[in-house]
Amino acid sequence: MGSPVLVWLRRDLRLGDQAALVAACASGAPVVPVYVLDDESPQHRRMGAASRWWLHHSLERLDGALRDKGSRLVLRNGRSDVVLAALAQQLGGREIHALHHYEPWWRNAERAVGKAAALHLYHGNYLVPPGSVLTGGGTPFKIYTPFWRALQQQLPPPAPLPAPARIPAPDVWPASERLADWGLLPTAPDWAGGFRAEWSPGEAGALERLDTFASRAARYADRRNLPALEGTSRLSAHLAFGEISPATIWHRVAGAGGSTGTFLGELGWRDYAQNVILQMPAYGAANAKPEFAAFPWREGAEADADLTAWQQGRTGYPIVDAGMRQLWHSGWMHNRVRMIAASFLIKHLLIDWRRGEQWFWDTLVDADYGQNAVNWQWSAGSGIDANMFVRIMAPLSQSEKFDAGEYIRRWVPELAHLPDAAIHDPPLPVRGYPPKMIGHAEGRARALAAWAHFKG
Ligand SMILES: Cc1cc2nc3c(=O)[nH]c(=O)nc-3n(C[C@H](O)[C@H](O)[C@H](O)COP(=O)(O)OP(=O)(O)OC[C@H]3O[C@@H](n4cnc5c(N)ncnc54)[C@H](O)[C@@H]3O)c2cc1C
Repeated sequence: MGSPVLVWLRRDLRLGDQAALVAACASGAPVVPVYVLDDESPQHRRMGAASRWWLHHSLERLDGALRDKGSRLVLRNGRSDVVLAALAQQLGGREIHALHHYEPWWRNAERAVGKAAALHLYHGNYLVPPGSVLTGGGTPFKIYTPFWRALQQQLPPPAPLPAPARIPAPDVWPASERLADWGLLPTAPDWAGGFRAEWSPGEAGALERLDTFASRAARYADRRNLPALEGTSRLSAHLAFGEISPATIWHRVAGAGGSTGTFLGELGWRDYAQNVILQMPAYGAANAKPEFAAFPWREGAEADADLTAWQQGRTGYPIVDAGMRQLWHSGWMHNRVRMIAASFLIKHLLIDWRRGEQWFWDTLVDADYGQNAVNWQWSAGSGIDANMFVRIMAPLSQSEKFDAGEYIRRWVPELAHLPDAAIHDPPLPVRGYPPKMIGHAEGRARALAAWAHFKG
C-alpha cells in the first residue's frame, strides 16, 4: 500500500465533507489522521479556556468516529511544521493533506509545513474559498453588503462530500499523546458544568443541532433578535471547530423558504470575516483606522474595576449582565446581546475594544479570530467597515424592544421577581443587585465628548 499519508486536522474536526480526508483515502495509501496542539507557530494565538474545553470533547468524539471506520486520531503537541515533518519521516512518507485555514499563524504554519513536506491544501471550511470574492477591479471588498452580493454569484457551494466508508489504516500506528495529559479541561474550580448542560461538541452534535434548526430556519428573521427564544441555530461553536461544513448547512436549509436567506447571510458574515483577516492579518489587535491609536480610552485602576464588573455581569444594566453571565455560565451569548454588551463596554465605559475582544476570546466556545475581531471593530467604529463610533446602543430600550424579560429572569435571578414593566430598568434598588455603574445619558454624553475630543 506504500507509505502512509497524513491528514493534518485543525479546526475541521469532522469526517463528512472533509476534502483532505477524502483525498488522503483516494491516494490508496494508509491514512494517519493527526491533530497537533500548536501553541508555538509564529504569531500563534493560544486558544482560550472555553475553546480548550470544547476542543477536548471534540477530539474525543472525532477519535471515536475514526475508530468506527477502522482508524484513530494521533495526538501530538508542538510546532506544527516540526511535529508533522518528524511524524512523516517516522512513517517513511512525505504527503500531508489538510484544509486551508486563514488565521495569520495558520498561514505561517502552512508555509513552514509546505517547506518540510509535500502539503496538499483543500477548501471546505467556508461557503466559498476566502480570497476568491473580489470587486470588478480585482481587489478585496471592505464592506459586507457588496461582498455578500458578489459571493452569492458563486453559490451554491459544491454538494458535501460523504464521509469515507472505511479509512485505510497503517500496519503499525505511531504513538499518540494522551488527551487527558493535555489539561484542556478545567479542574479546580470546574467551571464547565453549564457548558456540559448546554453543548454536545463533535460532528454528531453539530448534525443534531442542524436538524433542530432546519425545522425553524424559515422563521429565522422574526426570532433571531429575541434572546429569550432559541431563534438562531447555535451552530457557531460547531462551525468554529469545523465539526460541520457551511456547505452541509447550506444544502440542508437553503430550500426551506421564509427568511432562510437572512440566515444564509449570517453564514456570509463568517466568510466576510475571513476576507477581512486575509487583507489585514493583525485585525485582532490593530485598529483598521490607525488614528484610533490616539483614542482616549479610560485606563488605570478605576477602568480595570469597571472591566471586572462588566466581565462578572455586575454593571447594573440587566440586559448586559444577563448576557455576560450567560457567557460565563455557558460559553455563548446571544448575538443581539453581544452587540449591546460590546457597545456598553466601548461607549458607556470607554474601555478599549481589545480588552473586550480578549475576554470573549477566552470565554466563548465559538471564539474565532476573524469573527470576533470583525464584530468588535465594527462595534468600536475602528474597523474596515463604515460603522461609526457615535452609534451608541441604548441598553435599556434595546432590552424592551427585543423583549428580554424572560432572558433576564433566567440569567439574573436577583431580578426574577420583577414584573415586565420593571425588569429592563429596575426603578428601585434591588437587594443583591448593583446600581448602574453610570447612567445611560451620562455614559452617552461622556462617550460623545471623548469622540469630540478625539476628532479635535
Ligand atoms: C462583539 C461580538 C463578538 C463576536 N464574536 C464571535 C466569535 O468569536 N465567533 C463567532 O462565531 N461569532 C462571533 N460573533 C457573531 C455572532 O454573535 C455569533 O456568530 C452568533 O451569536 C452565534 O450564534 P448562532 O450560531 O446561533 O448564530 P446564527 O444566527 O444561527 O448564525 C449562523 C452562523 O453565522 C455566523 N454568524 C452569525 N452572526 C455573525 C456575525 N455577526 N459575524 C460573523 N459571523 C456570524 C456564525 O458562524 C453562526 O453560527 C460575535 C458578535 C459580536 C457582536
